[in-house]
Formats: sequence, structure tokens, C-alpha cells
Amino acid sequence: EPSVCAPLPVLGRDVAVPLVTGGEVTYAALDQAASAPALQRVWDDVAAYAPYYGSVHRGAGYLSQLSTDLFENARRTVAEFLDCRDGDEVVFTRSTTDSLNLLAAALPDGCEVFVFETEHHAALLPWRRAGRVTFLDAPDSPAQAVAALERALADRDPHGPALVCVTGASNVTGELWPVRELAAAAHAHGARIVLDAAQLAPHRAVSVRELDVDWVAFSGHKLYAPFGSGVLAGRADWLREAEPYLAGGGASRTVVRRADGGVDVRWHETAARHEAGSPNVIGAYAVASACKALTEAGFESLAAREDALVRAVREGLADVPEVRFLSLFGDDAPRVGVLSFVVDGWNSSHFAAALSAEYGIGVRDGLFCAHPLVRRLLGGDTGGAGECGAPEPGALNAIRVSFGAGTPEEHVARFVRAVRELVR
Ligand code: PMP
Repeated sequence: EPSVCAPLPVLGRDVAVPLVTGGEVTYAALDQAASAPALQRVWDDVAAYAPYYGSVHRGAGYLSQLSTDLFENARRTVAEFLDCRDGDEVVFTRSTTDSLNLLAAALPDGCEVFVFETEHHAALLPWRRAGRVTFLDAPDSPAQAVAALERALADRDPHGPALVCVTGASNVTGELWPVRELAAAAHAHGARIVLDAAQLAPHRAVSVRELDVDWVAFSGHKLYAPFGSGVLAGRADWLREAEPYLAGGGASRTVVRRADGGVDVRWHETAARHEAGSPNVIGAYAVASACKALTEAGFESLAAREDALVRAVREGLADVPEVRFLSLFGDDAPRVGVLSFVVDGWNSSHFAAALSAEYGIGVRDGLFCAHPLVRRLLGGDTGGAGECGAPEPGALNAIRVSFGAGTPEEHVARFVRAVRELVR
């Protein structure tokens, strides 16, 4: 059994919030799958660097050089964190959404894309520019997911380019997907695979080499760094051959005026090709700091802690039949610290509002930007829910509780007690 570490210190752990019943309580941030509070260590690292930051790459001054070094070192730290192959690129983006859209813009002509309907919208929707997109039905088990992908890929033209996009851990059920097996299936049929690690990277070690995925995307704000930074890492070839994601300075090596009045551009062939404009150096530095902090804490003990928190919820609510957890692969399937549920007799939005007002617990209610999956799990019409995560009043929706490296046991115990009391 790996040892269970103490919660890592995070920002906001002493924030007091008012209760509708009077008084105050320390805020329990149990919506970490949406955004996780930054690690204190990340914040301290950023604060130490902040007085010295400067523009990267073209500055001759000392602080520009310092920032350039830190930015490029951050790239190396992320490559190590993801156990990238030699020759892989690490592109700094704004988020997972941005990373997957970047890859979608870099697809070779005629590329087919295969994606399960269960994906987060960020992984489901960017592929509209592809030659053809095949949406696969939600599987009942990891083995069925692999079999469904095998079947879908077997029918395609093996000579054309193809991409599979899959989540490592669901943002709705927390369940782990069989990434290595899906990657093997993709490669056996000449397809590439991109891993949406937005929910996986904060909770489990991700090795590009071991999983044998072609690309990985994740977001800084879910990995205990602040907002505004993300990563797309992986194979250089499609990225090098694609038009720059954004056209502008930093992406271009040389720009010359032609005799006929137009301009000729030579673009960079490395990550810079897709990082036009002044990059988010502090964001990249913060992501690298978070990667180091998580590696030092050790994913085995981080995961063991989260497993214990998930167990505490399951066991604490086992005798409350009104609480029904949502899962594709079964309630006991391995998962990260993310659980969604409905409460019989309750509107999920009202339940989430009561957790906040009466107990100072922050969870999420809605469809979690994964409408087809939540619809399927709830087995009904969601009442035409319109916006991402914000269903119309009265619509069928769910509640999600999620933990991170900084979640104290007390928050989870309070959640279990609150659910029991509200149901009663
Ligand atoms: N994929 C998954 C699995 C997610 O959970 C999320 C965020 N909820 C995203 C992609 C998109 O991440 P971001 O909003 O940071 O772009």
C-alpha cells in the first residue's frame, strides 16, 4: 500500500464564507475538476520570479534573457513531467480547449477523426474541420471501448491520416479510460491518438512513452497553477507541417516583401510556430512549478489519498439509497477524485445550492460540458439545456463533487454529513 500524504498546501484554504443559517465556515472547495486552487508552492515560485519577468526571446537585456531561460526550462520540465520522447514538441497554449483546437487546426488534409460521444465538449467539438468525424457510442466497459474503436478503425481507408481523441479520466464520472489499449488499437490501424489529460494529469503520472500516445493536452488551472496556461505536447511532424495556429511575431522567422508587392514568410518549425505573440511566461513558469511539486509529492501517495477520499464518500453514503452515483464502467471502476450523482426527490441545482448556503461546500451542478454523456447517464431528456454547465431551471442535471491534492479530509466528511442531513 502506498503511503497517504498530507494535503498539499493550497491557496484559499482559510477562506471563510457566510452560512444562511448564520455564522461562517471555512470554504470547502469540492469542485476541483473545474479549477483547482493553486498550490502555495506555485504561488510562492511565481511571486519570487514576478519582479524579474521580462519579454522573452528577442530581448537583449538581462531580465529578458532570464525570462527566456525560465520559459525554455519550463518546456523541458513539462516534457520530463509527461515523459516525452526525444523530438517531441511542448507547445504552451491557453488551456486544454486551446490545445485541442490547435491540433484540430493542424490535421493533415482529409484526416478522419474518431471520438467517443462521452468526451468533454473541448475534445468532442474541435474536429469539425476534419475530413470526417465519427462519434462512437458510449461503451459499457473499458474492454468495450477498445473493441468499438477497433471496429470503427477497421472500416476506414488505412492509407489516409486518422486521429483518435480520448480522455484519460472523465470529468463527469472520474473513471479512468484504457488509454494504452486504445493507443495500441489506433496505431495498429495506422491512426494517431491524442490524450485529453485535463482530468488525468492532476491525479496520475502521465507517461507519453508508456501510454504510447501521440499527443497530450492539459490545463494549468486544473493542475494547481493559475488560469491562462495549457500544454499540447507530442509528435512534431503534424505541428511542423501545419499552418501556424496564430499568425504573427514569434511564429515567423523571416518576412520579406516580394517584388510583386506581397510578402513571403518563413515560419518557425518548432513549438514557436504555434505560439505567435508574446507568450504567457508566468503561466508557463507556474505550470512547470506545479509539475515539479506534484512529482515531488509523488503520484502514488497523491492517488492513494484521493482513493481514500472517494471511498469515504462511497462508504459514508452507502446506506442512503436516494443518492445515485453516475458511472459508465460500474460504481467500483477505478477513478480519479471525481464523482457525479443525483439525489432522488431533489432538483440537482437546488441540492448544490443548499450545500453551499447551509454548509459552505462548493460543488458543481449541471451537465459539465459533456451533454451527450450526462444525457446518457441520466437516461433522459435534459430539458433542452442550453449552455455549457448551466441547464435551464428544472432541467434534468446532476451534481459533481471533486477532490484534489489540497482537499482536507474534513471537507469530505462535511460533505458526507451534509448530504445525509439534506436527504433526511
Ligand atoms: N477536457 C476535460 C476532460 C475537462 O474536464 C476540461 C475542463 N472541464 C476540458 C477538457 C477543458 O479544459 P479547459 O476549460 O481548461 O480548456
